[in-house]
Amino acid sequence: MLVVMKAQATPEEIQAVCDYIEALGYRAHPMPGAQRTAIGITGNQGEAERGSLEELSGVAEVIRVSKAYKLASRDVKEEDTVIRFAGTDAAIGGRALAIIAGPCSVESREQAFAIAEQVAASGAQFFRGGAYKPRTSPYAFQGLGIEALRILSEIRERLGLRIVTEALDNESLDLVAEYADVIQIGARNMQNFSLLKRAGKLRKPVLLKRGLSATLEEFLMAAEYIMSEGNYEVILCERGVRTFADHARNTLDLSIIPAIQKVSHLPILVDPSHGTGRRDNVLPMARAAIAVGADGILVEVHHQPDKALSDGPQSIYPAQFARMMDELEQIAPIVERSLSRGIQVTATASGTS
Ligand code: PEP
Ligand code: MN
Repeated sequence: MLVVMKAQATPEEIQAVCDYIEALGYRAHPMPGAQRTAIGITGNQGEAERGSLEELSGVAEVIRVSKAYKLASRDVKEEDTVIRFAGTDAAIGGRALAIIAGPCSVESREQAFAIAEQVAASGAQFFRGGAYKPRTSPYAFQGLGIEALRILSEIRERLGLRIVTEALDNESLDLVAEYADVIQIGARNMQNFSLLKRAGKLRKPVLLKRGLSATLEEFLMAAEYIMSEGNYEVILCERGVRTFADHARNTLDLSIIPAIQKVSHLPILVDPSHGTGRRDNVLPMARAAIAVGADGILVEVHHQPDKALSDGPQSIYPAQFARMMDELEQIAPIVERSLSRGIQVTATASGTS
């Protein structure tokens, strides 16, 4: 259920409604909007309390939310969610496109800095790099762990770039939350419900990648797991799904972008690197992603992809990334977006967003 407050409802009235909901044993999720605040209710079984809620001061109406996902749905929050990064001008989900670039894995301090300096020079605001890697083979490079997290936070301190890195399990989640600005939950973990719930207890943005064969509803239900615990800062990311097609590593499903945007207020990015698996397909699909209305791109960049310890064949060269930025900057205004180059850091980077 959803309690829609009157436009003129006071903060005290909103709090009183939340307290009332919690006293019933449910969870209240206040969602401030441009016009009015709506309060999502989770944990309730039926509609028994509708009448009493409607009588509380400041309440405009009580609506039943019929979709399986509630907090992720536009029924609960009409306006697009914009995730801001304190002390910077960076945002994900606003008019400006968000560009997250960097290697698949952090391999060494030299490698990470070499790539970070080049993507920063081209105007990326976010740097990605895996510290904990979900690899198909247990014998493949598994990531540098905490050492990589320290390198990433040094990159934030020195270059201002905000950091996106993956948490693989409950142990790495706490460490990643401590060092990163955005916690990535990978495709293989999209339905790791205990990990999603734990990420939901944190107060840090979560970038949730679509599962290898997840439907739109399964994808949004995974986001709902995070939101149901009170963390509303979820960024979705389409990264390709498994199909019969074998000309690419995955089939990048750009058709999910408008479909998600119709039903959800959450920002959605596109990852053309894992989505294609091929360096020469990355730029064309990145162009298409922005044209279709994605809120930004997550892309793998490596200065020596032939030597990369993971995902070299899909990593673009820094010069190709520079070209991508130029082209996306030109496409952006056609879809009423912009590409801001570089990050303005107005407060000292503190290690957290
Ligand atoms: C990655 O971003 O490096 C990654 C492992 O992505 P995915 O979970 O989409 O495979
Ligand atoms: Mn990768």
